[in-house]
Amino acid sequence: MDRFRRQIIIPQIGEKGQKKLMEEKVEVLAEKIENCDLLLLYLAAVGINNITLFLSKVSNVDSIVQHAKDLNPSLNIEIKGIINYIKSDYEKPTTIIVGDRSFIEEVIEKVEEGSYIIAIAQPWRVYIKECNNQKDVERILFQAKDFEKEEDTIGLNLSCNFLGTILTTEVIKKVIGLGVSLHGGFTFDLLTSDSNLELGENRINLGNLNLRDKKVLVVGTGGLGSPVTLTLAKLGIGTIGLVDYDQVEMSNLNRQILHSTSKIGVAKVESAQKLLSSLYPDVKIVPYKLKVTDENVQEIIKDYGVVVGALDNIPSRYILNDGCYWENIPYVEGAIKTFYGQVTNIIPKVTPCYRCMVPEKEDYFVKREIGIVGSLPGTIGVLQSVEVIKNLVGIKSNLQGSVLMYDGLERDFIKIPFMINHKCQLCSL
Ligand SMILES: [Zn+2]
Repeated sequence: MDRFRRQIIIPQIGEKGQKKLMEEKVEVLAEKIENCDLLLLYLAAVGINNITLFLSKVSNVDSIVQHAKDLNPSLNIEIKGIINYIKSDYEKPTTIIVGDRSFIEEVIEKVEEGSYIIAIAQPWRVYIKECNNQKDVERILFQAKDFEKEEDTIGLNLSCNFLGTILTTEVIKKVIGLGVSLHGGFTFDLLTSDSNLELGENRINLGNLNLRDKKVLVVGTGGLGSPVTLTLAKLGIGTIGLVDYDQVEMSNLNRQILHSTSKIGVAKVESAQKLLSSLYPDVKIVPYKLKVTDENVQEIIKDYGVVVGALDNIPSRYILNDGCYWENIPYVEGAIKTFYGQVTNIIPKVTPCYRCMVPEKEDYFVKREIGIVGSLPGTIGVLQSVEVIKNLVGIKSNLQGSVLMYDGLERDFIKIPFMINHKCQLCSL
């Protein structure tokens, strides 16, 4: 089957699991496409072939739907007005209702009893629960009762994008029967990087803060670079620099949602620029089709406010880390492997650096091919974007000096502090 050639099938999913995903039917109920675009792209990328979107506002959907179809040419997608929604008894789809609290309340009154994944986005906060009855729904609405009146477009967009990635991983787990289910519910605070909301009461409201004068460099336009750039562009970052020397391959398309089938063989920076410019014409994209080296790194990064490492190898991370150290630029680092990922926010001369966290070893220089669940880099990439925003607007992050580890199977997030390594060639100077 053609679809299989696009995937690096990981052992937990296997060919059988992939086939189940391809046969699954997913319905998404949302207010507008902006609240579920990353969800749509990741569902398409991981091989969900049957998707129906029910939207309150059916507008602005063409370019994203066209891209989803090019990402997964086997995709059957329908877009309908939410007013036409009827839960199908015989098709037994996975139904996701995603939006802010008032949207969920409004929709839930109209839909019939049944099983729904409810995903509430508030600025910088998300709540998800698989609900089988009215009591479950009431419980999650009660949990999300605070802060409902905040209008913080940046925080809300970050929450919606984060939900898109987490929900896709949860759909994969549900369809295949892996890991912890969503019946127990899940909450996460993007501001504190904490899944225990009791601790996250210091709120922030960025309102409609203008980010047009901000410049961010994203090194790597693959699994991590895709969600990072799509998120930053959606938030209205003025200038995004893209660094990559690679070309688009079919095996990229289970996770690298910036690219698509018609771009196979095209330089990744070109493919990325084309998509980002068509979706977000106001964002200036600066492509660098090259490999970052010790010699060129400082020249490339020096005009940017934050650098994002969206790389697939450790030697390049050392180069970026060192360049950012000498240029005094915050460096947001992310990494992924199968169902696991991690994020940290490095502030030169303030926090420990990447070399402190990952001391140099010879075997890091051997490149390995490992399978990755398509939506996993999505979650890490959106979390990297959250850290970028914190650095740009001056919010102190709990991930400065700590690494956030994500286990997608257990849906577990933990923060682990790390110290300056006195053998580090930079920090021990
Ligand atoms: Zn260091």
